[in-house]
Amino acid sequence: MQGRIKRLLARIAQENVDAFLVMRPENLFYLSGFTGSAGALVVTERQVYLMVDFRYFEQAREQCSFCQVVGFQGSLYEALAERLPHWGVERLGCEGDFLSYKQVITLQEKLENIPVAPLHGLVEELRQVKDREEIELLSRAVALADRAFEHILDCLKPGVTEWDVAVELECFMRRLGASKSAFDTIVASGPRGALPHGVASHRVIRAGEMVTMDFGCLYGGYNSDLTRTVVLGSPHPRQQEIYDLVLAAQRAALAAVRAGVKACEVDRAAREVIASAGYGENFGHSTGHGVGLAVHEEPSVSQKSEVVLQPGMVITVEPGIYLPGWGGVRIEDMVVVEEQGCRILTSAPKDPLPVVPV
Ligand code: ZN
Ligand code: ZN
Repeated sequence: MQGRIKRLLARIAQENVDAFLVMRPENLFYLSGFTGSAGALVVTERQVYLMVDFRYFEQAREQCSFCQVVGFQGSLYEALAERLPHWGVERLGCEGDFLSYKQVITLQEKLENIPVAPLHGLVEELRQVKDREEIELLSRAVALADRAFEHILDCLKPGVTEWDVAVELECFMRRLGASKSAFDTIVASGPRGALPHGVASHRVIRAGEMVTMDFGCLYGGYNSDLTRTVVLGSPHPRQQEIYDLVLAAQRAALAAVRAGVKACEVDRAAREVIASAGYGENFGHSTGHGVGLAVHEEPSVSQKSEVVLQPGMVITVEPGIYLPGWGGVRIEDMVVVEEQGCRILTSAPKDPLPVVPV
């Protein structure tokens, strides 16, 4: 944790501020280990202050031994106004991409003579590269999703609804120790597969249909994100063709992942395979995203992302093809960027197209 504070201080030193206020819960946890839902960290050169109200005082003292825990009542901003001068703060940076405009205005009003500077992505930049402990937690979150996929293959049959499938996936991961689902589970069957974000509906799944399931869980604060498309019964030639194409695109993107490569090059590798087969218009989203304490975080793996991949970054690789009225296919794995390539964390089967016997 203190290493993270040191790296943040180095970043703060490049800005014209002498303290940084952290309120985004993922950033609070990342820097201090504090898991409460409300609190604020004030990071200065000399000391790290964790400000919490009565509900979290004891918890904060247990979880954040290196912070000075400061209890307050009522308004956090008023408490800051009272204390910051005593802590030698003359100019305060805050999370410009987390606090609302109104919050920044109110904070500035309360602090009066201490200028408030909204800064962007300081902690999020640090969070992009995961350390060994973080990769271990991510691997466990991924393993829970992998096991849930294996389990759901036994539950999928004609007549069950998308809703049944989503509930089963979520309960299964919870029973294995997940804190919660990482996001609203997507189960998109038949023509609904054309919806890239088709959250599970009450639609009944029928024989011969493809089903795309995109789900994950939170474990130890870290998220997993997995997508598999399966077919109920023998695949039709078109289903096989689209699936094989998406798989080829995904493999091309995975082969492009390596430290030193720009994220947009990984996106391009997948997009070229799909476009050259004539389906470019049917792949309308990015190839992937960073994943960690948040399901979607930096770096984005998009056509425009100039981020250079570094060892320890954890990203998803998830191309898809969506055909309105017909359905869709998406395949998503989580990988760790390494010097010479990548390590795929996901182990749920994808090759060949998973077939559920009917
Ligand atoms: Zn996903
Ligand atoms: Zn994803």
